[in-house]
Amino acid sequence: MDKAIYVTRSSMPSFEEYVDMIRPLWDSAMLTNMGIYHKQLEAELMKYMDTENISLMSNGHMALELAIQAMNLTGEVITTPFTFISTTHAIVRNGLSPTFCDINTDDYTMDVSKIEDLITEKTTAIIPVHVYGNVSNVDEIDRIAKKYRLKVIYDSAHAFGVKIHGKSVADFGDASTFSFHATKVFNTIEGGAVTYKNKEIGEKLYNLKNFGIRSEELVVDIGANAKMNEFQAAMGLCNLKHIDFEISKRKKVVERYKENLKDIPGIKMMEIKTDIETNYAYCPILIDKKLTGFDRDYLYDILKEKNIHARKYFYPLTSDQACFKNQYRSIDIPTARHVSKNIMTLPLYADLQLEIVDEVCRIIKDEYK
Ligand SMILES: *Cc1c(COP(=O)(O)O)cnc(C)c1O
Repeated sequence: MDKAIYVTRSSMPSFEEYVDMIRPLWDSAMLTNMGIYHKQLEAELMKYMDTENISLMSNGHMALELAIQAMNLTGEVITTPFTFISTTHAIVRNGLSPTFCDINTDDYTMDVSKIEDLITEKTTAIIPVHVYGNVSNVDEIDRIAKKYRLKVIYDSAHAFGVKIHGKSVADFGDASTFSFHATKVFNTIEGGAVTYKNKEIGEKLYNLKNFGIRSEELVVDIGANAKMNEFQAAMGLCNLKHIDFEISKRKKVVERYKENLKDIPGIKMMEIKTDIETNYAYCPILIDKKLTGFDRDYLYDILKEKNIHARKYFYPLTSDQACFKNQYRSIDIPTARHVSKNIMTLPLYADLQLEIVDEVCRIIKDEYK
C-alpha cells in the first residue's frame, strides 16, 4: 500500500459547511459557556438519540468521570477490563475500586452470569461497556441492579446511534456516557455527553462541568471544568446532518469484509444480534491459531509491513496495565484474557474504499498458501 491505511479516519463535513457554521461566532464573540450552538446541539441530539435528558461535555472521559461523581458512588464498582483505559481510569480517579468481570465469547460485553458473585457489601455500581457498539445485556443488568440497589452507568462511547429492540441505547441504566472524539462514529472533534434518567443528576452534572457556578455570586458545588465549546458544538451540528449517510457507508465496508472473510477458517467476525441496530463502529476479528496456523500478533505485523495499521483493541486488558496490575481484587477472567490476546480491529471508516478492504483481505488470505 503506497499510502498508509489507519484503523480509523475522522468523518468531517466539507470545509465550506463548517466555515459557514462558525462565521457567526465572529459576530457574537461568544465562544463557550453553553452558547447558542451548545444549546442547539443538545436539542438535536436529544431528538436523534431519542432521550429526554442530555448534558454535553468536553470529552467522553469527563462525561464518565462526572457521571460517576453525580451518583455519589463509594467503594467498589463492577466493570469490564476489555475496554479503553478511560473506563477504568474514571473509576479509580474517583477513589473507587474496580472489580473486573469476565466477558462473553460472542459479543465481548460483560458476562452477566458472573456479576452477582462479584457483589460485596461495598459494591455501589455496575459500569458496563457497550464495546464495539455491541449492547450489553441491559435487561439482566437492570434486574441485578434493582435487586442489589446498585447504580448503572453504561460507557456508551462506542454505541452512538445504536438501538436495541427499537429503543435508543441512551435509554438504559441511570446514565449513559458517550464520546464524540474525532475517531468515534459521531464526532465534535473532542467532546462527549451524558444521557440520564433523573433530573437531579442533570443539575449535578451542570454544576460539575462548570465549577458549580449558578450565578455571579453563587457557587453551590465543587465542580470541575468540562464544558463543550462552540467550535466543538458547531462541528457536531455539521456532522449530525450526515450521520446516517456516514453509518450507511460504514455498513458497506463491514459487509465487504464479511463477504471476503466468510469462508476463511479461524477468522471470526463479530456477530450483531438480530434485535440490535448497530452503528458499525469497529470491525474486530478474532483469530483462532489452531485453524489459521498463525496468531494475532503475526497477522498484525504482516499487515503493518504492508502499511496497513490495524489495532490490537483491546490489548492488554486494562486490569493488566502497568498502573493497575496487581492492585485490585483479582478475579478469574479467562474469556477476557483469551479475547484480548487473539483479537484485532481492522481499518474501518466511512470513506474507506472497498478496493482497500479487498486488498486487506487478500493479504490475510495469502497467509494460508
Ligand atoms: C473513546 C472512549 C472513551 C473516552 O472518550 P474521549 O472522548 O476520548 O475522552 C471512554 N470509553 C471508551 C470505551 C472509549 O472508546
